[in-house]
Amino acid sequence: MSDEKKARTEIQSLGEFGLIERLTKTFRPNQKSTLKAVGDDAAVLEYGDNCLVVTTDMFVEGIHFDLMYSPLKHLGYKSIAANVSDVCAMNAVPRQVTVSIAISNRFSVEALEELYDGIKAACSHYKVDLVGGDTTSSNKGLIISVTAIGETEKSSVTFRSGAKVGDLICCTGDLGAAYLGLQILEREKQIYLANPGVQPDLGERNHLVEKILKPEARTDMVAAFRKNKLIPTSMIDISDGLASEIHHICSQSNVGAYIEESGVPIHPDAQMQAIDFGLDPITCALSGGEDYELLFTIDPEDVDKVKFLPDIYIMGEVVSKEEGIRLHTKGGNIHPITSIGWEHFQPTPNSDQNPN
Ligand code: ADP
Ligand code: MG
Repeated sequence: MSDEKKARTEIQSLGEFGLIERLTKTFRPNQKSTLKAVGDDAAVLEYGDNCLVVTTDMFVEGIHFDLMYSPLKHLGYKSIAANVSDVCAMNAVPRQVTVSIAISNRFSVEALEELYDGIKAACSHYKVDLVGGDTTSSNKGLIISVTAIGETEKSSVTFRSGAKVGDLICCTGDLGAAYLGLQILEREKQIYLANPGVQPDLGERNHLVEKILKPEARTDMVAAFRKNKLIPTSMIDISDGLASEIHHICSQSNVGAYIEESGVPIHPDAQMQAIDFGLDPITCALSGGEDYELLFTIDPEDVDKVKFLPDIYIMGEVVSKEEGIRLHTKGGNIHPITSIGWEHFQPTPNSDQNPN
């Protein structure tokens, strides 16, 4: 053994994406069928005219969820929905999932059955089959890892890299709600810890708490695209906040983006809750996470195909890389959108803003 000390690089100095890049950059595909390996919402494997897409996400207790306010059934549902969302981001139809769990003896069989009730509800909602997994022990916390497999024709796959100057930037649903729902749950947790006799007050803004505890993947949108013969030029799901996701599309497509604040959909409950918390609603939309909506770009010639679809919002335009990634605020100012995503907020103890 040599006495020479190897240089030590701290993970923080690379960040999540820098770390993935460093660990995987020397891998080259050995298989002709590997159309897309690391770097998109899912890997794309080509078999004849069809492609399979494969994606994995892991959920760690204390990092991604807090069992004080996440019922196990909801957690099971969400772990499937989050993976199905990555399948949707490739414009594919989900088919199968595998589920692996690491558990400690803190959990009873009945508790794990609750988790699987949620997994089953999601499988039946998204019409996917649970086809396997793995079960092992953990020292303390619960870890859930889900892999989802989807299918589509090769001509329909949407990558993060296909946006072109002049394309319209669109998104589905509404943004920022999950982050605000999480803040409500964290607030109630702190109140409960201080005084266990107090009943939680989740308020009237159910949409926010539902978005964080039981999000839905937008399989309905992928179906609507199909029905309208629309193939977005690029697509990503919004799991880490709009700012982070638009940066992924722009860097992989080698373009910039110009977004109108007034075009970013924010639910009225989110608007009001943000103000109650002293936050700017647009900051919640840009930097909050876990909305699981779709961010996509379309050729302007396809605008009629989305115009009459419900729940789709056109919020900006793809511009040249030199113009950068900018937000035109309601007040008339133009700001660069930084991709700090989840780092933007002071993390709450168990918030997932968003290490995935
Ligand atoms: P998403 O947020 O859409 O789930 P991620 O940011 O988790 O995507 O991952 C980005 C890309 O990096 C994906 O292609 C994913 O498969 C890949 N990836 C993430 N972690 C690893 C890893 N440890 N080894 C290999 N590939 C990874
Ligand atoms: Mg994704």
